[in-house]
Amino acid sequence: MANLNIDSVKERTFDAIVIGSGISGGWAAKELTGKGLKTLVLERGRDVKHGIDYPTTNMYPWEFKHRNEMPLSVREENPIVSRCYAFHEDAAHFFVKDKEHPYIQEKPFDWIRGYQVGGKSLLWARQTQRWSDFDFEGPARDGFAVDWPIRYADIAPWYSYVEKFAGISGNKDGIAELPDGEFLPGFPLNTVEKYFSDHVKKAYSNRHVISARCAHLSKPEPIHFEQGRVQCQNRVLCQRGCPFGGYFSSNASTIPWAMKSGNMTLRPFSVVQSIIYDENKGKATGVRVIDTNTKEVIEYYARIIFVNAAALNTNMILLNSTSNRFPNGLGNDSGVLGKYVAFHLYTATVNADVDGYTEFKTEGRNPAGGGYIPRFRNVYKQETDFLRGYAAGLGAYRSTHTDSSGVGSKLKDSLANPQLGGWRVGSHMMGETIPKESNYVKLDKDQKDQWGMPLLRISVDYDDNDRKMTNDYLEQVGEMFETAGFKNIRKEITQGKAPGLDIHEMGGARMGHDPKTSILNKWNQVHTCNNVFVTDGACMTSTACQNPSLTYMAFTARSVDYAVSEMKKGNL
Ligand SMILES: Cc1cc2nc3c(=O)[nH]c(=O)nc-3n(C[C@H](O)[C@H](O)[C@H](O)COP(=O)(O)OP(=O)(O)OC[C@H]3O[C@@H](n4cnc5c(N)ncnc54)[C@H](O)[C@@H]3O)c2cc1C
Ligand code: SF4
Repeated sequence: MANLNIDSVKERTFDAIVIGSGISGGWAAKELTGKGLKTLVLERGRDVKHGIDYPTTNMYPWEFKHRNEMPLSVREENPIVSRCYAFHEDAAHFFVKDKEHPYIQEKPFDWIRGYQVGGKSLLWARQTQRWSDFDFEGPARDGFAVDWPIRYADIAPWYSYVEKFAGISGNKDGIAELPDGEFLPGFPLNTVEKYFSDHVKKAYSNRHVISARCAHLSKPEPIHFEQGRVQCQNRVLCQRGCPFGGYFSSNASTIPWAMKSGNMTLRPFSVVQSIIYDENKGKATGVRVIDTNTKEVIEYYARIIFVNAAALNTNMILLNSTSNRFPNGLGNDSGVLGKYVAFHLYTATVNADVDGYTEFKTEGRNPAGGGYIPRFRNVYKQETDFLRGYAAGLGAYRSTHTDSSGVGSKLKDSLANPQLGGWRVGSHMMGETIPKESNYVKLDKDQKDQWGMPLLRISVDYDDNDRKMTNDYLEQVGEMFETAGFKNIRKEITQGKAPGLDIHEMGGARMGHDPKTSILNKWNQVHTCNNVFVTDGACMTSTACQNPSLTYMAFTARSVDYAVSEMKKGNL
């Protein structure tokens, strides 16, 4: 029962509500406040203030109690989050621990989450690529999921819009399947990466190795200084939170920008339980929130609501928003809510040794992480026995070794000065998965969390398409390494990996033309409840193989623009 004594209804009424303050919620907040709307941003976690709440950001390696490793006891207590490559002592405080927020795995699923102001924007690896028409046309062409209700031309100007503000480094590579953006200078490839790039250009007509595109200020523009951000210092300690604002996070960029407008109220410690639907008005009127400190249930009201709680949390909120009109969850006349969940396939790696080039070494660090191989399989025509394709990350580096023989100052000296060894090169797969009805999330009927929210049941698995694609990646990238003359090629399928660890879960409230088979229309607006918008990963009809967050940012800015113009016309 809502506590109506907290404030007056008027004080709890805003023009807009945003649920979640991560990558997409931060953008919704910035755009809505920028258009003059009094906006309430509700965040279930604590506040994380840029620069202030980054406790490890300037620590030296020896200042970490466990030299940045996680102690065995923590790993044993947190087997799920410990499997994430970024869960170390320097950033552990930004990850949800296993026992804090339980969920039910009908099939193994490693759900990696960041519940705080800024969400996972503090944890992400900042890789940012645009989609192309080959991606938006994919489901229609290849006959899976449903047709996207938009094409690249609809979203292209919004990519430009968000790229300019966020700051994306990259090169104009002129590749049709990976459109260029509004780039700051790209981080250069090192000698061996460049050699491989040149080799691939010569050996393959349709394959490319380019500098990875990433959300780092390689050369800031005035708009970035205005945000209080400065040039990336190439420290590559980003997961600790960057005091320079060298990479894009909600905390460094969109949230303080929205705050500066004077139109944002940020309420951390506020778990949104459900969206309130008014049967008479035929629209949503607000949200029901549980204050995690006081456990009070409070209602907030607004004319439009943006749901940006991250893909699976958004599904949870919508499924939990039941009413006489929507007994199966808000907007769920079609019954597809929670279904067609998909993700990215990060299931394999290829590594090798490289002869020569020992006169070269790398100077400093590359925050972009090296190179990127855009998707080359099944782009122009179907050429394999699996649908869609994969991209791959690429990095080359000098191995190091230390001589641990000897004692005293000789030993100390050799340990402090590791010797450079030969070059090594490595690649990891990033594949598209096919959204299927059988990959779903739903609410448990009996078990609830400490805030009274039903636990989420996750039933998501790999399939034959994924397995065939993984084998093809190993074969093709293995061959590219072989023709490049790399030695001792090691092709590996990552063992014991469950979906979820691929960290790009999507779908459940997909966009589509038809309300009978989708939840959202082409403006990310719930078909049957037109003042609710979903612009995080839940909206994704298919996944492509590009990193997804740039696309969520563009969707969000586009959708806010539409929502506010509709509001001004009196349609919402
Ligand atoms: C280690 C790692 C590396 C990654 N690397 C990349 C990359 O290189 N490129 C890329 O594109 N993506 C990457 N990602 C994914 C990226 O972080 C997500 O796509 C992105 O953060 C999603 O944005 P979002 O706004 O949907 O969710 P989030 O950023 O997770 O924000 C959601 C927010 O909603 C809040 N919330 C949830 N439920 C509720 C509720 N009921 N009430 C109120 N608030 C709620 C959460 O606390 C959170 O703050 C990576 C992720 C991880 C973990
Ligand atoms: S690499 Fe750049 S963005 Fe990352 S911590 Fe260093 S300065 Fe910040």
